[in-house]
Amino acid sequence: MSNNILIAIAWPYANSEIHVGNITGSHLPGDIVARYHRLKGNRVLVVSGTDSHGTPVTLKADSEGLPVEDVYQRFHNKFIELFQKTGISYDLFTSTHTENHFRVSQAMFLALNKNGYLYTESRPQWYSPPANRFLPDRYVEGTCYICGYDGARSDQCDRCGSVLEPEKLLNPRSKVDGSTPELRETKHYFLDLSKLEPDVEEFLHERQHYWRETVVGQSLGQIESEGLRPRPITRDLDWGIPVPVDGWEGKCLYVWFEAVIGYLSATIEWAQITGQAEVWRDWWTDISAKAFYFIGKDNIFFHAAMWPAQLEGAGKEFVEIFTGGEGAPLNLPYDVPANQFMNLEGQKISGSRNWAVWGLDFLTRYDPDALRFYLTINMPELRDSDWDWDEFIARNNNDLVATWGNLANRTLSFAYKHWDGFVPDPGELRPTDKEIIRVVEGGFQTVGEHLEAVRLRAALSEALRLASEVNKYLDTVSPWFEIKTDKDAAAKSIYTALRVIDSLKLLFAPFIPFSSERLNTYLGFSQPLFGEQYIEEQQDKLGAHNTLQYCPAQPGGCWEPSNLQPGQRLEAPAPLFKKLEPALAEDERKRLGKD
Ligand SMILES: [Zn+2]
Repeated sequence: MSNNILIAIAWPYANSEIHVGNITGSHLPGDIVARYHRLKGNRVLVVSGTDSHGTPVTLKADSEGLPVEDVYQRFHNKFIELFQKTGISYDLFTSTHTENHFRVSQAMFLALNKNGYLYTESRPQWYSPPANRFLPDRYVEGTCYICGYDGARSDQCDRCGSVLEPEKLLNPRSKVDGSTPELRETKHYFLDLSKLEPDVEEFLHERQHYWRETVVGQSLGQIESEGLRPRPITRDLDWGIPVPVDGWEGKCLYVWFEAVIGYLSATIEWAQITGQAEVWRDWWTDISAKAFYFIGKDNIFFHAAMWPAQLEGAGKEFVEIFTGGEGAPLNLPYDVPANQFMNLEGQKISGSRNWAVWGLDFLTRYDPDALRFYLTINMPELRDSDWDWDEFIARNNNDLVATWGNLANRTLSFAYKHWDGFVPDPGELRPTDKEIIRVVEGGFQTVGEHLEAVRLRAALSEALRLASEVNKYLDTVSPWFEIKTDKDAAAKSIYTALRVIDSLKLLFAPFIPFSSERLNTYLGFSQPLFGEQYIEEQQDKLGAHNTLQYCPAQPGGCWEPSNLQPGQRLEAPAPLFKKLEPALAEDERKRLGKD
């Protein structure tokens, strides 16, 4: 068995900044699981990038009157800044607008074509007579033919969540100029998903016993009600990946088809950047590797049904075509732990109404671990959750500061003061000391099991519960009084507390890595827990794109109970977290919905 773990996180569209709902939906859970597996010593690769093509991006560029390259680069660079500041530790965060991604996507197209899953057909498509061109699906709005919602995009209804057949849209209008488009014939490639339906059903049934019911239920439900029907994979658009067939100039690969291929192409790009061009296979053709896909519920069907269909359909031929060597099938997802949505103060988050807490803006006032903590304890794992400013402040003050931060800080400060900056020698430990050590060390099992199964709220709650147990222990032994009459007893208490805090540091580290890293130095360790993130520009024939990368700290794992030694030199401690004024909540609510 290999221990290769691929963490594949949803690709954000380059048309809007990232808000807390996006962070808790996919980026943060992916990072937490990645950090856990790194601490375990597993070989982890975290990939994603900016979805730079597609009409959300061209629409944004049109509305701003800017070249589409400028718009995609602007958002892309903001994403990178946010992920670095929040510690979303991508091994590679890249973009779909790279020469490598073009090549990989085209090879996937050719493999599916070779295996008989593609066919061409002329179809009616909305055409704009005033603009003299075909309109991409998102350029056409109208009435949903399923639920009657009037603001539906022609390819998807945001109210009922249905994927729509664009030409069936009622009362169509162009988003560019409001004119009424007409249907005209245009030729496209289609992926015959119906041929792959039995494979996808089998894939889902095999994983049914350990996937979230929300994910497997929605996927199988949609297949049972609608089936997997052929879908066009090309479109009339010039911003995107050219169709690799002569005579198809002016058309490109559909973004739903090519963006998911980014998980594969980003792995390949990472392998090239790190100078080990073939190593991507360790995550994609080694069948013991596990791939986790972190996405929001709006993306479930694409990742749990359509992407597996693409991978099945490409067969071993993708590797053959892409490498020119021997073929090998590509790994299917191991788990797709999709999250539900986070609302804000009881209402749906809306970027256009500015009813949102934007990641970069939030970080100008608060620390990243405060954000990560609240977004984990309140993660919409099985049902929608709500960002509530009062609750954010209460959780920060009661859990993060009072239960965990003060525990670490008062113990370290006390040790630092009374034992001259060294870990005290406890001599023989008492039964009560041994008991709290046993309880906390059990967390490596319990917290670890929750993390393996991507139950992140439960994992963090368990770590917090253990911190509360240590607080109770300290209330009982009370070293602050012991020190006055019996310094040896106080040494036993403080040594024990430091040792369990050293263990808790690791149990909390996947969730709140910045404070755990600081605590690690206060405890006197020079070897960091995690590696470093850095930005590096890459160049290819399409131009330059920035990438966010990660340099690992150390090989091998450290997910194991503390072995803190008496006599270890401590660093002067400082508080790990900031207490927040409850009145801030009202200030924050006043910002919502303003321009
Ligand atoms: Zn609808």
